[in-house]
Amino acid sequence: MPTPETPRHIYALVPVQEELAASDYAPMEQARLLADRCNGHAAALLIGNTPEPAIQRAEALGMDAVWVCATAPGARPLEPRQLAAAYAALLRAPDAPPHDGSSVFFAAAGRAGEEIAARLAALLAGKAMGRCESWDIDATGILHAHRMAFGGRLQIDMECREGPFLAVVHSAGSTVPAVRDRSPIAMHQCRAPESLPPAYPTAYTDRNETHASLDGARLVVSGGRGIGDAQGFEALYGLAERLGGAVGASLPAIDAGWAPVARQVGQSGKYVSPEIYLAVGISGTPQHLAGIAPHVRLIAINRDDEAEIFKHAQIGIVADWKEFLPALARALDA
Ligand SMILES: Cc1cc2nc3c(=O)[nH]c(=O)nc-3n(C[C@H](O)[C@H](O)[C@H](O)COP(=O)(O)OP(=O)(O)OC[C@H]3O[C@@H](n4cnc5c(N)ncnc54)[C@H](O)[C@@H]3O)c2cc1C
Repeated sequence: MPTPETPRHIYALVPVQEELAASDYAPMEQARLLADRCNGHAAALLIGNTPEPAIQRAEALGMDAVWVCATAPGARPLEPRQLAAAYAALLRAPDAPPHDGSSVFFAAAGRAGEEIAARLAALLAGKAMGRCESWDIDATGILHAHRMAFGGRLQIDMECREGPFLAVVHSAGSTVPAVRDRSPIAMHQCRAPESLPPAYPTAYTDRNETHASLDGARLVVSGGRGIGDAQGFEALYGLAERLGGAVGASLPAIDAGWAPVARQVGQSGKYVSPEIYLAVGISGTPQHLAGIAPHVRLIAINRDDEAEIFKHAQIGIVADWKEFLPALARALDA
């Protein structure tokens, strides 16, 4: 347990390899907020060759320290796997930033941050906490992290006893405190790690998709195992086009090859947040619902009136889609 002599160390993991977006500073904001609440020490760990804007932001946020590990100018940006290895090397160096089992490390929410946090947790034999929404400290000083699961339908409260703890965080927004009188920020320069895992060989292929993308769609027409075959999905594409939306699919429909994997919605697929989600021939398992934001207006078409999806839908239509969708298309055309 941290004491006044050995405060809890809270670190923001901020790769500084390219121009940063506001959301990339979320780990610093959250580190500052949490350190204030537990009388801890907030520092930013910057790896990359463009640290200046992040150093300025760290000063503006009143971080206690910044550790800069400069990479060669013009070098190819490190991949999340390499960044995790670079952070691990930095933390294992003889002059490493101080840390122990009570330390907390924040990365920015998003694909790269989540990979960095998970990999670094493994490399440090720490705890990967996932995407945390908020933190509490109880009367005994134990830290509690809160996160959502299944698309916000379940809240998980985690007790942080023996770490280090690695979490991904969103911006703290307007709750970031104004900088009070603080001692000047402590600047530390570290050496770039000598060896890192090689970059993955990557090649880009055209998906040859002519239909609207699921990403950012305001209306999603999603099909499940109940659609029956790839031809059934053609009807869904037709409907989505009429309504100005995009097609999604459940895992069994993807596995059957009726839709490309980029259209999978759910726990192991995409998280979508449209205004309307039309679920056709989908039973409503937690793994599928995990991919749909909780505020979404859900309309379900299922021939089984006891299907679980009806418990979550605002509008439920008990029907065989093969009869209902053509009738709906005719009505829309009229
Ligand atoms: C680790 C893990 C991760 C997973 N990740 C995902 C994920 O990301 N996304 C995902 O979707 N699943 C995921 N799954 C799978 C999940 O558990 C379910 O198997 C899946 O969601 C079920 O898909 P479904 O609703 O299409 O199929 P089913 O559960 O088989 O439901 C088909 C529905 O269609 C209805 N139906 C049949 N014919 C018609 C008709 N003619 N008209 C109208 N309705 C009809 C049936 O009544 C039934 O309710 C995951 C599972 C695991 C273990």
